[in-house]
Amino acid sequence: MKAPIFVKIKDEDNVAIAVHEIKQGTEIMDGVIARHDIPQAHKIALCDISKDQPVIRYGVVLGYAIDDIKKGDWINEFMLHLPTPPDVDNMKFATNLVTDLPEPPVTTWEGYVNPWGGPAGTRNILGISTTVQCVTGVLNVAVEKMKKELLPKYPNVDDIVPINHAYGCGVAINAPEAKVPIRALRNLSKHPNFGGQLMVVGLGCEKFTVEMLCEKADITPENVIILQEKKGFDEMIQALMEMADKKLAILNERKRVTLPLSDLLIGMQCGGSDAFSGVTANPSAGYAADMLVKGGATVMFSEVTEVRDGVYLLGERCVNEEVGKKLAAEMKWYDNYLDAGQVDRSANPTPGNKKGGLANIVEKAMGSIAKSGTSPIVEVLSPAEKPTKKGLIYAATPASDIVCGPCQLASGIGLQVFMTGRGTPYGLAIAPVIKVCSRNEMKEMWQDLIDINAGPVATGEATIAEIGTKLFMEIIDVASGRKQSFAEKYKLHNDLCIFNPAPIT
Ligand code: CA
Repeated sequence: MKAPIFVKIKDEDNVAIAVHEIKQGTEIMDGVIARHDIPQAHKIALCDISKDQPVIRYGVVLGYAIDDIKKGDWINEFMLHLPTPPDVDNMKFATNLVTDLPEPPVTTWEGYVNPWGGPAGTRNILGISTTVQCVTGVLNVAVEKMKKELLPKYPNVDDIVPINHAYGCGVAINAPEAKVPIRALRNLSKHPNFGGQLMVVGLGCEKFTVEMLCEKADITPENVIILQEKKGFDEMIQALMEMADKKLAILNERKRVTLPLSDLLIGMQCGGSDAFSGVTANPSAGYAADMLVKGGATVMFSEVTEVRDGVYLLGERCVNEEVGKKLAAEMKWYDNYLDAGQVDRSANPTPGNKKGGLANIVEKAMGSIAKSGTSPIVEVLSPAEKPTKKGLIYAATPASDIVCGPCQLASGIGLQVFMTGRGTPYGLAIAPVIKVCSRNEMKEMWQDLIDINAGPVATGEATIAEIGTKLFMEIIDVASGRKQSFAEKYKLHNDLCIFNPAPIT
């Protein structure tokens, strides 16, 4: 089979994207000759498009031509007006509920059951919660000592992770939106990978108190250390070491057991996307998501600004009006949040996204939504809420990689699948991250950072179903601890950036 030189998605599209750079003068199809060099992943006009006429990809209006565009022109981000965003008040709900999903090749995995139920753990970690950034210095010294002196005694424990963050003091703790960071930190302290072993470090004078972080019954000297109550540095370190030693001994007794897929909760997000993300990596992830949902697992996708322009497609997939209305409410909340900052969704695509051929947020959204597959959306969550249903969940979070990650962790994901076109060494300390890239060149460049290459879908060497099935098996193997992703192997992780839409004082 001859490798394609361009990818056109829908019959009605009047643009296609270049699989590799297309040189000026190349005839890409009958009568369409490139009038310029078209960079890889960028758009070429397949017909003349007059000023103010729509530019269509994915069968969707990406925008309107600012000037006349000639057949064979390179179409970049400066040549389109953004269309108005879809109206969230008049969406249709539950009109596209797909039940024909691909069968998963396996239906079990190995995880850590938690005493309170809910999603099982994928790793066995001592997570140490904090109420305020002020304790970070002392805690980091103690954690280094714990890893050297204590962790080797407990071979069944994978890691010790301090939940350091910038929240806790100098914040408007009673502002209505303070509920978001507070909920995130509360839910993070009980992440499924921590096995219910709560360890909390506070300073003693912060606004975000231990009482706000923990349930009343959990506030005991066995779980909580307040640094201002300790006589100097040595006593702080000694107290932290003693508490960690006891918690690690309990965690060391945890054992993986064979579990149904219904005990697995994973998240999906993308970052550093390009115009191939929506053709290769995200649809492959969507295929894996459909298999997981078919097998009973829970899959979460997020990133409000990256679904906003295709939200009507999600509305049609909401199982009922109640779920649909929550989706609309989350979109409106974010519209208002952006308004308050005097920006709109056009602030989203990055210079790298644009270099990768994504002209604007509409184009980015169409690619981003593909990662959710086709199954019905059973629940919509506010940032950092925990799901109460199983199946496909839309969890509203910012699209920023380093903010979406902690939000999904707070919602309880045991693993994240991360799609990229441009490349990022992103990682999370609390749960493994599997990287999927959109182009063969990306995999060649970062052989030892990209776990799954979806590039062969664009070159005709593999199908979405083949890459999606490979990704599904990778998810099961990594979740079960049989395999480490590259980010986990190298211990690559970003800081925990907690989403705080409330004022800092
Ligand atoms: Ca992202």
